[in-house]
Amino acid sequence: MTETRSYNAHVGGRWEGSGTLLDVHDPSDWDTVVARVPALGADVVREGYKTAREGARIWGRTNALERGRVLFRAAAILRDRASELARLLAQENGKTLAEATGEVGKSAEFFEFYAGVARLPYGDLIHDARPDTTTSVWHEPVGVVLAITPWNDPLLTPSRKLAPAFAAGNAVVLKPASDTPTIALELTRALVDAGLPPEAITTVTGRIGEIGEDLVGSPEIDAITFTGSTGVGLDLQRKVAGRNIRVQCEMGGKNAAIVLADADLDLAAETIAAAGFAQAGQRCTATSRVLVEASVKDSFVERLVAVANSYAAGPSLDPSTVVGPMVSRRQQSDVIGHVATASAEGATIAAGGTVGAGEVLQKGCYVLPTVLDDVTADMTIWRTEVFGPVVAVLAVSSLDEAVELANASEYGLSAALFTKSMSAANTFLRDIDAGQAAVNLPTSGWDVHHPFGGFKLSGSPFKEQGLGALAFYTRTKTCAVRAL
Ligand code: NAP
Repeated sequence: MTETRSYNAHVGGRWEGSGTLLDVHDPSDWDTVVARVPALGADVVREGYKTAREGARIWGRTNALERGRVLFRAAAILRDRASELARLLAQENGKTLAEATGEVGKSAEFFEFYAGVARLPYGDLIHDARPDTTTSVWHEPVGVVLAITPWNDPLLTPSRKLAPAFAAGNAVVLKPASDTPTIALELTRALVDAGLPPEAITTVTGRIGEIGEDLVGSPEIDAITFTGSTGVGLDLQRKVAGRNIRVQCEMGGKNAAIVLADADLDLAAETIAAAGFAQAGQRCTATSRVLVEASVKDSFVERLVAVANSYAAGPSLDPSTVVGPMVSRRQQSDVIGHVATASAEGATIAAGGTVGAGEVLQKGCYVLPTVLDDVTADMTIWRTEVFGPVVAVLAVSSLDEAVELANASEYGLSAALFTKSMSAANTFLRDIDAGQAAVNLPTSGWDVHHPFGGFKLSGSPFKEQGLGALAFYTRTKTCAVRAL
C-alpha cells in the first residue's frame, strides 16, 4: 500500500498549505494517489510575488561566490537524497527508476555547473572617447523570474532554469505542472536547506483556471521562462505582449531521424528506438519521425520492430521495466487516439499501438512502443506532436528529399542523421532546420553545458543551458565614470 504524502507550497518565504488540495496520481497504477499538494488561491500567488521582489533584492546583493556555494550545496543535497528523490519522481511521473535516477544526477549537474559559472566575470571594460573616463559593461540580474515547467522532466526542467537564474542573482517564482508537482517542491526544499534566502524562491501549486491570471499578470514579473506545449507557450506570449518583458519559450517538437542506405542499420535502429521510446516517448527531443532511404527501409523497420518488441512495458518501480506508462489517463488516450487516426489514414501498425494486455498494464496509463510503417507526409501523424512512444517511418529516395521533408514542419527542435558519409553529414548539419543536430547519435541526450533550444515553433531566440543561458537571466548596464 503506497502512503499518500502531503506537501505544502513555498510562498512568502514559508511553507504554505491550503484547504483545497490537488491529487497527484501514480501513472503506473492510476487509482493510487501518491501525494496531495495545495490548490492555492490567487491571493496567495499575489503575496508570493511581493516576497519574490524582496528575495530578488536580498539574493541579487549576495556575493556571487556565496551564491555559487549555495548552488553547490543544493547539488550535494540532491545527490545525498538521490535514491529517495528518484523514487518520488518515478512514482508521480511514471518514468523508470533508472531514468529517474539519471534525472536527479543531471539536475545536480545543472547546479554544479552554474555554481562555478557564478564566479565568472560579469562584465567588460570598454574604451571611451571622453577624457579620463572609465567605461564598463555590467551584466546584472533581471529581478523576478517566473518559471513555468511541464511534467515530463519535472526535476530536470526546473533545474535547467533555476540554476542559471540563481547563479545570476534573481528570485524565482516556480509553477510546476499539476501532474508532477512534488519533485519541484523537493527541489525547493533542497535549495532552502542549502542556504538560498527563502524569499528568493516561491513555488506555487494550483489550478491554472484559478491562479493563471495572477501568475502571468503580476506587475512584479521581469522575465518569464516557459517550457511546455506550443499552444500554451504562444498564448503566454500573446498575454504578455505590450508589457515589454522578456519571454523564453521552449515548446513542442516533431523530431526527425534520417537513415541513409550506407548507415549501420543496427546502430540506427537501437539508437532511434532508445530516443523514441525511452521515458515512454515523453521527451521534447524524442525521435518521432524516421526518414529511411527506400532501398533499406524494410530491413530497418524489421530491426526497429524487433527492438520495440523487446522493450518491456511495466510499472516505474519494477526493475525489469524498460518503458514506463504515460503520465496520465488523459495523455494515454491522447496517444492512442493519434495511433488510431494514423491507422485510419493508411499507416501500418508494425509494433505496439495498444495499451497492452494483463492486469498490471490495465491499471496504469500504458502505451506499448509503437512503430508506424508506410506513413506519408500528408498524414496527420507526420505533422502533429504525439508526445508518446510512437515512431512513424517514411521511405525517401535521397538525402535531399529527406532533409526537405524533415524541414517541412512547424517545429525545429532536434534532428539526427545516420550515415558513414562525412559529406552527407556536412550537408545535413548545414541544411537541417533544427536547434540540435546529431550524426550517428540520438536526437535526445544533450549535456548541461550544451546550448539547448529549438527553432521555429519549438523555441525562442534565448537558448537554455551553457554559458549562453545567462543572457536571458541578466540585463546589461553600460556605466561610465569620469575621474575628477
Ligand atoms: P503544457 O500543457 O503546455 O503545460 C506546461 C506548463 O504550463 C504546466 O505547468 C501547466 O500547468 C502550465 N500552463 C498550462 N496552461 C497555462 C496557462 N494558460 N498559463 C500559464 N501556464 C499554463 O505542457 P505539458 O503537457 O505539461 O508538457 C508537454 C509539452 O511540453 C510537449 O509539447 C513537449 O514538447 C513540451 N516540452 C518542450 C521542451 C523543450 O525544451 N522544447 C521540453 C519538455 C517538454 P498545469 O500543469 O497546471 O496545467
